[in-house]
Amino acid sequence: MTHLDELRAAEAKLLLGTYERNPLLFVRGESVYLIDEDGGRYLDLLSGIGVNALGYAHPAIEKAVAEQSRRLIHISNLYYHQGQAALALRLTEATGLDRAFFCNSGTEANEAALKLARAYARLKCSEGVQLGSKFLALENSFHGRTMGSVAATWKDKYREPFDPVMPGVEFVRFNDVADLKAKFSTEVCAVLVEAVQGEGGVRPMSREFLQAARELTRSTGALLIADEIQSGMGRTGKWCAYQHDSIQPDVTTLAKPLAGGIPLGAMLCSEDAARAIHAGMHGTTFGGGPLACAVALAVIDTIEREHLLEHVTEVGGYFRQRLEQLAGRHAAVVDVRGLGLMLAIELESADLAKHAVSEMMKRRILINRTSDTVLRFLPPFILRSEHVDEAMDALDQILSEQPAATAAAPLTGGTQIGR
Ligand SMILES: *Cc1c(COP(=O)(O)O)cnc(C)c1O
Repeated sequence: MTHLDELRAAEAKLLLGTYERNPLLFVRGESVYLIDEDGGRYLDLLSGIGVNALGYAHPAIEKAVAEQSRRLIHISNLYYHQGQAALALRLTEATGLDRAFFCNSGTEANEAALKLARAYARLKCSEGVQLGSKFLALENSFHGRTMGSVAATWKDKYREPFDPVMPGVEFVRFNDVADLKAKFSTEVCAVLVEAVQGEGGVRPMSREFLQAARELTRSTGALLIADEIQSGMGRTGKWCAYQHDSIQPDVTTLAKPLAGGIPLGAMLCSEDAARAIHAGMHGTTFGGGPLACAVALAVIDTIEREHLLEHVTEVGGYFRQRLEQLAGRHAAVVDVRGLGLMLAIELESADLAKHAVSEMMKRRILINRTSDTVLRFLPPFILRSEHVDEAMDALDQILSEQPAATAAAPLTGGTQIGR
């Protein structure tokens, strides 16, 4: 019996059945590769769902973890340590916002944003501005799994088993300005957007829609909340994806790559919105601890020192070009989407997408399927063009072996290339 088989049997008995894991047992990582128990090297184009921005065993992270863990790992938020103000300064500069609240995960960052929006609406009411308690979120959104974040998450399967979740969320059709305008009113305290939807299938929001959301919320005093948990911290070649459209939200949330694999979330907000929160209203035991902050600072330093925003734009542009070539060669590729190193192709069927993920895995390349038919690529920011070539050559071969996909379709009409 292999170690993997033993583990599978043990987990099947001992763990809550939340995950359907792939049958791979990894013991370490190096750069853009994960290494299994037999020494097999896997090219990782998913990076722990967009978390390991600097790849595996990056010396800057290793050093920050080692040094900080010798000094101080946790003290709670009852005392000062050196990390939070330093990190808040970097993140307020990166996001265009004024104040930070630190927590441990994406969903917690969004909970903080939802609570802030409710508290801010109350404050505005006390100042004579009418604002209700409703939230608008988008079709195909994903904001997390806790009762508030999941209420703002589109798919029924995430919400319905746990009903009633937080009431007061209405969903707006994606990129449909008319629908947004129809559903918006002074009853709304906040609109939640992802400038590039992640789990929903890597869908960039149109500039027109983002601008409309910005103008509507500004007109009533409601908050525009940009969830940058997947798209932020450089993933799209800018610190935040909304910066591609020169939109400034009132609130943004960060997590996944923020501390290079150490759990850390952040909610950033404007000075005006921050007035709604006073001591004791919200908090967390672990959030923004010395270790997580030290590592996040090392991640940001490394992104700057190694010019990774520029690198993401460059290698992401090349990756996208290779995906478009693939779309030109295979009729089964119906769309190419994304920005920077947040990329996807949509295939003609869920079965084909499933097949492609498992064939790639056999070739020791890790990718992921989201929204049934979408192959998603969220590689480490340190990815290089030769890694892209390796993955695209493999995918080209897999799609060529598909009987349904062998006929090369003319490029015109069939392939719709989104932003
Ligand atoms: C992953 C994700 C979340 C939830 O983050 P967790 O750390 O899993 O709670 C929220 N929003 C977006 C856009 C995400 O991609």
